[in-house]
Amino acid sequence: MATGGVREIDGSHGEGGGQLLRTAVALAAITGESIRLRNIRARRANPGLAPQHLAAVKAVAALCGAEVEGLGVKSGEILFRPGALRGGQFDFPVGTAGSITLVLQAALPVAIASGEAVTMRISGGSDIRSAPPLDYFRHVLLPLLGKMGLKAEISVLRRGYFPRGGGEILVEVQPSLPLIALALDSPGPLAEIRGFAHVANLPSHIVQRMAASAAAELAGFPLPLIEQTILGKEEAIGAGGAIVLAAATERTVLGSAATAEKGVPAEQLGMEAGRNLRQELASGATLDVHAADQALIYLALASGDSRFYSRTLSSHAATTMWLLEQFLPVRFAVTQKGTLTRIETRNKAAGRRK
Ligand code: ATP
Repeated sequence: MATGGVREIDGSHGEGGGQLLRTAVALAAITGESIRLRNIRARRANPGLAPQHLAAVKAVAALCGAEVEGLGVKSGEILFRPGALRGGQFDFPVGTAGSITLVLQAALPVAIASGEAVTMRISGGSDIRSAPPLDYFRHVLLPLLGKMGLKAEISVLRRGYFPRGGGEILVEVQPSLPLIALALDSPGPLAEIRGFAHVANLPSHIVQRMAASAAAELAGFPLPLIEQTILGKEEAIGAGGAIVLAAATERTVLGSAATAEKGVPAEQLGMEAGRNLRQELASGATLDVHAADQALIYLALASGDSRFYSRTLSSHAATTMWLLEQFLPVRFAVTQKGTLTRIETRNKAAGRRK
């Protein structure tokens, strides 16, 4: 609901976490609408803005010359007044091990809308639990968005992990609106399964064990080609790693990922990634559960109607749809088709309103 030209958003709605905040400020920037966001991350044990969320809001603010009130660690409310979208070169340091890809989740939809080239240097954690690992963003999400005409390239300058951070990427983005709609009714035949397993500053057998247990979980499918990378001090700050699997079918890419964590055996990480991908492939889904929430904002910015099938409707996805419908001329229809959830968009127009 808008009061005095400011749209009021309840940050405790649905999932009530960081993604609601990131998507809300991105949408404010894209549409040019001012927002007041209350109850930020109210459904989390540590509510309010954490450093990674602050970094995401600051990144979006820089991309649209916004004035922001209430920016501070633990703040539960912000007033975000966007200015004009702008291109150019930007530095977005998270300052901690906060996730680089979650800053990108907020900044990329804004960068493609700016009408000029945008280069972003983002530093923080490259592979952090409960966030998309960097290789998931590079090898699952970006190829999907590429099918929609999104033009972005990521160069990995350094990896960094919890607790030190220090990872760094360079993202080069070209204007990409309006995006092309995606009609994903079925995945089509499986072409190949690729994998990206890496460890940094840890024994090399860890990466081999992750890859082997992921491959074992995928017995019966074409043999996955899993790249195994061992990074040293020059290429990564601290110890960490991840395994990401990407199954390319005729029409889509399905992914799964697991991030290394102290005390969790390598076999378990590989098994988790392998099992999740097997479930995605067996289900007939056309977007994996994580791509399903992360792709929604792009589908809402496409010039036609889209549809896809997901294994389940996550509360991240439901919350994001609720938010998108408030800002953009888009409506979502969610229906159950057997064991799959079908999500369809009806887009009236795309782009900035004023
Ligand atoms: P909070 O601390 O409030 O939970 P957050 O900002 O860390 O906030 P969420 O709001 O939970 O995070 O959003 C996490 C995002 O990361 C979602 O888009 C989710 O799909 C994505 N994500 C989490 N785990 C994975 C994974 N293994 N692979 C790909 N994407 C993931």
